Amino acid sequence: MTTIDDFNFDGKKALIRVDFNVPLNDSFEVTDTNRIEAARPTILKILEDGGSAILMSHLGRPKGKSNPDMSLKHVLDKASEILGVRVKFVEDCIGEEAEKAVQELKSGEILLLENLRFHSEEESGDAAFAKELSKLGDIYVNDAFGTAHRAHASTTIIAQYFEGSKCFGYLMAKEIAAIKKVMETGEKPVTAVLGGAKVSSKITIIENILDKIDHLIIGGGMTYTFVKAQGGKVGDSICEDDKQELAMEILEKAKSKGVEVHLPVDVIAANDFSNVANTQVVSVKEIPDGWQGLDAGPETLERFKEVILKSKTILWNGPVGVFEMPNFAKGTIAVGNYIDEATKAGAFSLVGGGDSVAAVKQFGFEDKVSYVSTGGGAMLESLEGKTLPGIAAITA
Ligand code: AMP
Repeated sequence: MTTIDDFNFDGKKALIRVDFNVPLNDSFEVTDTNRIEAARPTILKILEDGGSAILMSHLGRPKGKSNPDMSLKHVLDKASEILGVRVKFVEDCIGEEAEKAVQELKSGEILLLENLRFHSEEESGDAAFAKELSKLGDIYVNDAFGTAHRAHASTTIIAQYFEGSKCFGYLMAKEIAAIKKVMETGEKPVTAVLGGAKVSSKITIIENILDKIDHLIIGGGMTYTFVKAQGGKVGDSICEDDKQELAMEILEKAKSKGVEVHLPVDVIAANDFSNVANTQVVSVKEIPDGWQGLDAGPETLERFKEVILKSKTILWNGPVGVFEMPNFAKGTIAVGNYIDEATKAGAFSLVGGGDSVAAVKQFGFEDKVSYVSTGGGAMLESLEGKTLPGIAAITA
């Protein structure tokens, strides 16, 4: 894997695709600086080498048109503060003005280009646009994992103009290494904890990981499709009736591959989809009509705990209950605690994809697991076994 450590940036202009797609409030202030902080080590290494950094990113969904609300200008102050250098700005990402700003850029300086998606050619992956962008740097660095699953001009197409002078930034390298550690080189037993609402959105992940794991813990709303398929009564629980056959196929496949599947045995059932609903602990196979399973039950959590604590590699994707409601967040918090304990005992734990990251952050597990992925969609596609175009463009 070629990373920025393989280059000396002294006197070089590094064109870096970062992910500065940060949330803004009504006064256009950055409300979450995680993504800027995540790009910091890469940018600083380049400056410390004696190079200069040209940053390109998207912000929001301007759909190919200039939109002052989505200008990267709004990010300048925060980026300058976090990077410790006054970041310069140019009001277009291609063209004469951008080229002039780059020419004037000195070692140790940073230039931020205006929102790439003000040009529709960015998302369509237009080669001429990518070529224009490529004029702005000597070395291309991709450090935007969050968009690595998109074959956009700045994330993928541009790389062809940097033969021998393209590489990953530290964030991308960390994400790739974390995925590899789970999917290829993970110490056994390897356990995947999959939760979330629907089987249908996780099916490709399950199919891909069955070859790589020893234990599959299934929780959350997905549970009930499996339970009903096996003849259980799930009451009013969320259930995808048309996926029952698929659920049985998954269980068969897991068995034939020697993967132990752990489904909930009891659940916290509620008489309404509401935090203040009445609740009772019931067998997952005997949920009365009018009641729905919204969280994992105590016996289930004991079993999940036993599996997680003996695991050496853990992948967590998806909450095991409706964690947005405090009364049904306990199962997800418990799972987080078990993963914390396993990690302290030496396991490698990766949390990634969609809502699991939100849950992990909300409950403060971010620093307790080995790695939290920064890219929801990109991580999901990696777990599905897809080759991400942004990664392939560098490694090819
Ligand atoms: P996903 O994006 O697929 O990981 O799904 C996350 C969503 O699944 C969260 O919003 C949870 O509230 C929801 N969820 C988890 N367990 C259940 C359940 N038992 N019933 C309904 N929704 C659930």
